[in-house]
Amino acid sequence: MVAFNYNQHFQSCIEGIKKEGRYRTFANMERIAGRFPKALYRAPGQEAKEITIWCSNDYLGMGQHPVVIRAAQEALERCGAGAGGTRNISGTTRYHVELEESLADLHGKDSGLVFSSGYVANEGALSTLGKLLPECVIFSDALNHASMIHGIREAGVEKHIFRHNDVEHLETLLKSVDIRRPKIIAFESVYSMEGDFGRIAEICDLAERYNALTYLDEVHGVGLYGPRGGGVAEAQGQMHRVDIIEGTFGKAYGSLGGFITGPRAIVDAVRSFSSVFIFTTSLPPSILAASLAAVEHLKVSDVEREKMRKNVSLFKDLLSRADLPFLKGESHIVPLIVGEPNCCREVSEILMRLHDIYVQPINYPTVPKGTERLRLTATAAHSSGDVRNMADVLVNLWETHHGLVRAVA
Ligand SMILES: *Cc1c(COP(=O)(O)O)cnc(C)c1O
Repeated sequence: MVAFNYNQHFQSCIEGIKKEGRYRTFANMERIAGRFPKALYRAPGQEAKEITIWCSNDYLGMGQHPVVIRAAQEALERCGAGAGGTRNISGTTRYHVELEESLADLHGKDSGLVFSSGYVANEGALSTLGKLLPECVIFSDALNHASMIHGIREAGVEKHIFRHNDVEHLETLLKSVDIRRPKIIAFESVYSMEGDFGRIAEICDLAERYNALTYLDEVHGVGLYGPRGGGVAEAQGQMHRVDIIEGTFGKAYGSLGGFITGPRAIVDAVRSFSSVFIFTTSLPPSILAASLAAVEHLKVSDVEREKMRKNVSLFKDLLSRADLPFLKGESHIVPLIVGEPNCCREVSEILMRLHDIYVQPINYPTVPKGTERLRLTATAAHSSGDVRNMADVLVNLWETHHGLVRAVA
């Protein structure tokens, strides 16, 4: 009998994705606090070099804000490194309590609940709500994030996927289901690979008409939109109409963790039934203190949002003038379409090698084949010089771009 060769099996799994050009290589980054978007990049076997990051989700530079760093340091010194337990068994700290109150206030909801990450929040909340509601049906936008898809699958309920942002399609699907059955509509406020907004008001209209709960992922909206950073729903005057809002501290708030806010009974049910919430060590005080400081700061400060908006609009303007093929969504995210996986990787390599600019290529399966792209983020921390330089480099590169595509085709 030949013994099963485990190593060979896993090696062939890897070879498979390598052949499809889907093998991921990580860039070794050391962000420089106080100088972000500058960072040190270390290529394997080479000296570190200073580069500018153009694909970070630390949109407002809060990860290096003095108020945030100080809050984390203070909590670390006062309480030590870890929380020391799960939320239920000795791991609920004053920072959890204060942060959850701050989040409920941010969204004008009864309650907030903090999770290990935004991914875990989506997975935990959607799976729990789906499981607890009898005969539940979930309606999900076709471009929803993997974490929502995972949560919906985990719920094990009937699901319908509506075409991205197609509210007519959503209505057709809602109509096809018995009006008496409990329903959840799950969607996002900012679709991070497309840079467009979700149709919040229209989806809330439908939810009222068909008696469905609305579940809105504001991961790329919180901190960034609305007068207090409540998100796109706040900016559009729709926040009170959305039942459950989900967000992260990992992006505009510059830290780590996820959360939901909503009506008391719903949040309490998730707190009481969600396995991924209950059976895990809670986040450490330093991280929570950093998140709380960022949330509170962005409730009253518009400086960072203004700076980012200015950079984004300058950047879009410069790319538009040169007719570069980026998706003209309403949000701060600028997806620049390359349309071919090898070329996309090559453009990214040229940026790093010749221009000291870091942009990770986005290829299938994150986006559909033929729409490979660079997902560019002009943050509040970039200078207008950074923005102009990036636009210049891209415009020059695009002039040789067609030659590039041919070279690899
Ligand atoms: C990043 C992301 C998440 C997950 O948030 P993390 O805090 O990074 O786990 C959820 N939803 C969307 C749309 C995201 O882009």
